[in-house]
Amino acid sequence: MSAAVALYVSKRVLIDEALVPASVYVDAAGRIVRVDPGVVAPTDPDLAYHDFTAYTLLPGLVDSHVHLNEPGRTEWEGFASGTRAAASGGVTTVVDMPLNAIPPTTTVANLHTKLGAAAGQCFVDVAFWGGVIPGNAPDLRPLVDEGVRGFKCFMINSGVDEFPAVDESDIATAMDTLAGTGAIYMFHAEMEDEHNHPAEITTAPEEYSTFLASRPDTFETKAIDTIVRTAQASANPSGLLLHVVHVSSAEVLPVLARAQSEQLRISAETCFHYLTFCAEEVPRAGTQYKCCPPIRSRANRELLWRALEDGVLSTVVSDHSPCTPELKQGDFFSAWGGVSGLGLGLSVLWTQASKRGISLAKVMQWTSANTARQAGLYGRKGVIAVGADADFVVFNEDAEFVVGQNQLVFKNKVSPYLGMKLRGVVERTILRNGVVYIRDEGVGAVPKGALILERVVA
Ligand SMILES: [Zn+2]
Ligand SMILES: [Zn+2]
Repeated sequence: MSAAVALYVSKRVLIDEALVPASVYVDAAGRIVRVDPGVVAPTDPDLAYHDFTAYTLLPGLVDSHVHLNEPGRTEWEGFASGTRAAASGGVTTVVDMPLNAIPPTTTVANLHTKLGAAAGQCFVDVAFWGGVIPGNAPDLRPLVDEGVRGFKCFMINSGVDEFPAVDESDIATAMDTLAGTGAIYMFHAEMEDEHNHPAEITTAPEEYSTFLASRPDTFETKAIDTIVRTAQASANPSGLLLHVVHVSSAEVLPVLARAQSEQLRISAETCFHYLTFCAEEVPRAGTQYKCCPPIRSRANRELLWRALEDGVLSTVVSDHSPCTPELKQGDFFSAWGGVSGLGLGLSVLWTQASKRGISLAKVMQWTSANTARQAGLYGRKGVIAVGADADFVVFNEDAEFVVGQNQLVFKNKVSPYLGMKLRGVVERTILRNGVVYIRDEGVGAVPKGALILERVVA
């Protein structure tokens, strides 16, 4: 065990899913080397003493669904601006999605282009998802060997030409290719049917109800039925790690629960915005709320909360997917689909969870431990325990703030969270024993984030 150089103490430290008094020792490499119960006094002059007894000490969040869009659409976001936003909200690891940057992360050469763009620009640690598109099955295992944590595919038009949707046979091929690799295979689970064609809507496109009706619940249930059926027919169903990104429809929950009980290793996430907003409250032409799948009814939202408590949904992510303000204008059909909220998630979720009597420990399971598991990073990330990186959020659970332009640290300041009063303030964010954000000072000047490229464990 290497020698400790720093000691973090608080009366409320998240250890083993409970908030308890603890003292956390960290070595020069920024790793946790010892955790003792109780608050130890500052007696050892060789230890930098960090007294957070006034606050709660949590593991850094792992946001496993973020679109940083660089290179190629850097006017939409970027590694520097996006990871600064993450740092401001206690997110110490983000996993970048394969699409909306150009090129998409669908080949090793494309991944290297992205890594070149990311180098030296990241304020928190960044890992990468690859993409499955028609015809790139030979690229998948080489991408795993290069360090991508898993893959996302689309079962419906992705919105960008360079990331086409897959069909059932592409999915089957990808499942057989990825089984046993340790890389998780993820789905944007919406599938069109013969009755609904979102592109053909022409009347009242500025009404949210028109948009909602154009992407019905059945798009999600059809997609998940297809995933489950294809997985069950694959060569090695038990070797597959599957994940459904951004579940918005509660109608898929029974299908997911059944698949989970039938031994498919299929997890699913929802997003901060689906747990906060509801269709009844989206204003006319409120395109800052537009995302795909769409924000649905209030009753639907409450069923998503229940599914988190039941464990059918296990993670909550931002799906931060920005664009320029010009592209976000217009009606619900012409505007870009994507909600911006990177960095607000912990406060957003704690605001909603605390109203429902749900513990902060649960919130951290969904946003840190389980997202780290999904990306094959748990143990190093997502937990305060010996061997983990010393990534912390110093959180003031009871303080409140109103989201203004200054709280939107990402590049384009368009967000449905603007003007909302939130509970819980991030006082500090610490990445591998280095301070990367202080509430009154903002994000530090030097990017200290690393690119995570170790091969995922099979
Ligand atoms: Zn998606
Ligand atoms: Zn996304």
